[in-house]
Amino acid sequence: MRLGILGGTFDPIHVGHLRLGIEALEHLELDRLVYEVAAVSPFKSAASATPGEVRAEMVAAAIQGIDRAEVGIQELKRDGPSYTVDTLETYGQAGVELVLILGSDALAGFDRWNDPEGILERARLATAGRPGFGVSEAMRVLPAAWHSLIEVFDARPIDLSATEIRQKVRAGKSIRFLTPDPVVQIIAERRLYV
Ligand code: ATP
Repeated sequence: MRLGILGGTFDPIHVGHLRLGIEALEHLELDRLVYEVAAVSPFKSAASATPGEVRAEMVAAAIQGIDRAEVGIQELKRDGPSYTVDTLETYGQAGVELVLILGSDALAGFDRWNDPEGILERARLATAGRPGFGVSEAMRVLPAAWHSLIEVFDARPIDLSATEIRQKVRAGKSIRFLTPDPVVQIIAERRLYV
């Protein structure tokens, strides 16, 4: 069983995350894909962070109907922010091959994550380019020994970030079609990002 894990804060989830996941499912022959919702450090952004359960609710609403995709709340269940290496430990069971999916911007900082070697022992890495963040530039900053462990796949470049969505909401602008309608609705109902 090949299980893809796409981690993020998803504040909120948007079409960039969704296309990345769908294309990962298609190109990497995944049996399942988990959108793992990260716990946000209370020290880092207490004022702005949306509660984890609300971010998970938006992910669940966004991936409705996407075959083989699910929301992961292992990190939210733990106390405090958690490390990817521990998340992989949680998902890694006998017979499960893990694939950690990262946008190229996240890959560029991968060597500064906690225990990257431990991550590479537990999962294969797969990355796709994000506009403004070249995959080859990201690869270049990582040790050459890791390159063969990282699979590059094509995903439609979507120039969009959650930050931009939050800014649009704050400015009173429409976010329709940047994220699925059920997410637009949750943001409006809960008055997020205003
Ligand atoms: P923020 O703007 O709040 O920093 P974000 O939009 O970058 O958020 P994250 O939740 O931090 O989203 O990203 C989770 C994962 O999704 C990362 O691996 C990131 O590289 C990837 N990702 C996010 N947006 C895109 C996009 N537009 N195209 C491809 N990958 C993306």
